[in-house]
This record gives sequence, C-alpha cells and structure tokens, in this order.
Amino acid sequence: MTTAKQIKPAERVSHFSRDVWSIFTPLALETKAINLGQGYMNFAPPAIVQNAAKEAIDVIEANQYSHPRGRARLRNALAASYSQQFERQLDPETEILVTAGANEGMFATFAGFLDKGDEVICMEPFFDQYIPNITMNGGKPVYVPLRPPTDAADRVISSHEWTLDIDELKSKITSKTKMIVINTPHNPIGKVFDEDELRAIGRVAEEHNLIILSDEVYDRLYYPPLNKFPRVANIDNLWERTISVGSGGKSFAATGWRVGWLIGPEHLIKHAFAAQTRVVFCVNSPCQEAVAAGIEASLEKPVFQDQIDQYTHKRSILSKLFDELKLPYTLPEGAYYLLVNTSKIQIPKDFEFPEILEDRGDDFKMCYWLTKHIGVCAIPPSEFYAKEHWPMAADFARFAFCKTDEVLEQAVERLKALKTYIA
Ligand code: GLN
Repeated sequence: MTTAKQIKPAERVSHFSRDVWSIFTPLALETKAINLGQGYMNFAPPAIVQNAAKEAIDVIEANQYSHPRGRARLRNALAASYSQQFERQLDPETEILVTAGANEGMFATFAGFLDKGDEVICMEPFFDQYIPNITMNGGKPVYVPLRPPTDAADRVISSHEWTLDIDELKSKITSKTKMIVINTPHNPIGKVFDEDELRAIGRVAEEHNLIILSDEVYDRLYYPPLNKFPRVANIDNLWERTISVGSGGKSFAATGWRVGWLIGPEHLIKHAFAAQTRVVFCVNSPCQEAVAAGIEASLEKPVFQDQIDQYTHKRSILSKLFDELKLPYTLPEGAYYLLVNTSKIQIPKDFEFPEILEDRGDDFKMCYWLTKHIGVCAIPPSEFYAKEHWPMAADFARFAFCKTDEVLEQAVERLKALKTYIA
C-alpha cells in the first residue's frame, strides 16, 4: 500500500484523460479484433533498413550517444533527399535536426518558441498529440475547422473537399498568436493541401508574423493522380518561417523506432534544437543508421514509388468494401486512413457499453461496437476535436490500412457482417 497518497501531479498532466490509443489498442487485443485502429504496420521495414539496424548494433560506436543534431550519415542522407524536395541546397549542419520521432520534434518546436499564453492555431480535426504538446509548453491551442461538404453523408467524397475557410482562420488570430500548425497529408482526413491553399495560409502567417509548423510525416505517401507533394516551405518566401516535420517510422514501416526530423531555416531550427538537447539530448543511434540506409536507398531506387503502389492497392481493398456496403467515406489523397461515415449503421438498442465510454463522443460507442461485435477495430475521430466540437465527429470512424493485404482482406470479410445493421 502506498504511503504517498497526498502527492499531487503537476497541473500540466493532471487533467489528461485516457487517450484513444490506450483504450482501443488493448480492446482490439482483448477481443481478438483485427486492429485497423492505431496506425502502425503489421509488416516489416524494407529489408535494407531492417538489416542496417541489425548491422549497426555490431558497430561499437553506433551504440553510443549520437551528435545531438543527429548522426552525420542520416543528416547527409536527409540533405541529399530533401534538397530535391525543398528545391534548395539544405545544410545538414544547421537546417536539419534529427528528433526522437516526429512527435518529439514538434514538442521541441513548441518548447523552443512558446511562452505562457501564446496561441497556436490548430485545424480540427487535429492529430491528438499536438494539444498536450502545446499546453505542456504553456501554449494555448486555438481551433479552426476543416469542413466536409454538406452532402458528405450521402456520397463518397475526396479528402480535397474538406476545406479551411480562410476568413474563419483570420478571425482566430489575436496579438497572442505565435504559430499555425498544418498537417498534410492530413491525419485523419487524408487531405493533401494544394499550393493555393498553402499560399493562402502562408499569407496569413506573413501578415501576422507567425511560425508555420508543417507536420508532413506522411510526405512520401500520396496517391495518383497526385504526382508531387506540395510543401508550404517551397511557396514564395515561406521557407523563412516554416519548420517541416518528417518521420522515419512512417517512411519505412518502423513507427517504434522514434526517428524523425525537422527541416527549416537555421534561425528557427536552432531554438527547437536548444529545447530538444534538454529533453532527449540525442536520438537512438542504431535506428538513425538504419533510417539513413533507407533514405540512401531511396536515392537510387524507387523505394517510395513502390510503397505508393502498394498502399494504393491497400486503400482500394477497403474502399471497395465500403462501396459495396454503400457507406460513404472520404477517399484520402495521402496517408493511410479511411474516414467512413457511419450514420447509416444501427447499433442494436440492447447492446451494452462500458462505463469508460460515458464521457466520450458518440463515435466512441460506434467504434467500440465495431471492435467488439464486428471484430474490426477503428478509431473514433472525436479524439481529434476539442470537446465542444465532438458532435462534428459523431458520424465518423477511422480505419487504418497500413496492414498486409491479407489482414485487410480478413477485415473486409468481417465488415461484410455490417450489411444486417445498415438502414
Ligand atoms: N499516428 C498514428 C495514428 O494516428 C499513431 C498515433 C499514436 O499512437 N500516438 O494512428
């Protein structure tokens, strides 16, 4: 028995409720559901990457601290690859920072720039980690919605039809606004912002001297007919105020390795670096070597194009099923999530839900039922909205398709049982 009952946690963490991942990932395990919830792969990283990780363990020096900015091999590989992407010669010494996953890179950026009360514009839905990353660093998230078209419940829409109202964005700016977060390809919508949209956001940032933090962790995964990924940092002079975020885990099916990066001008990167040095000091060394091997390989071979082809097929396995069920969804232009409109599904009235779902959005109940009764786990997207906006997500469930074709086919077989419940 503890004798320390009176010890209170810090206010910055005391209000956190159980996050969606720690509810649905264990639930999927417990119920033996096929887990299309949390976005992680059930297949191995490319052999060249996996082997490089194993080889790195055998090199004494690769088991020790890395340079706090990231290992030279990885920063050089990133510079070679991303100089093409950013249409400028990147300096691996000052313009690239290797981080302990994209998430820690974003945390370090907030830590490096936010003072108490500074406001950060986040588009709703947002990737859930942004919010605690902002508040733990004294900042205040301010929300602006991405809205689907009004007939989204009646037809399949493109993720491109979810739009940001620029006037609404402008109306959220105050003297406290410091930063705006962009997420493209977007989780959970799959939207890839086009150049005009990015330029319009950029104009607002310029007008109010805001930093743009562009979360581009799915930058290597966008679907035809898109053949290029537009980057906000490449537009006009926006490089000067933009930090772009990348992910080794997403790029090489290694989400547990926690290797990500920030790319941006020295005058911004140096403050994120200052914060990160005091959080993790440096990043996992052998996995940096392995991610470097992957990036190097991508300079020689169509590694990412092959991945796009594979994921295009995976996306179609799920989309065909929902077409067949006549359940409308958002067809993503990028990333690996399918947002399905569940309003036609009727959960039997006598189905019982656990207490833990009481203070949650209605979509939690739908995803719980899908997991427990249909045997396929999906994520309720109200987790990606502020509480007052949970109803905006009530009719959606997010299915991740970063799984083997075989597992996706098995999920399809189970989801066919939905037919009986569709009104
Ligand atoms: N990015 C992944 C997702 O959205 C995993 C998130 C997490 O586990 N924090 O599913």
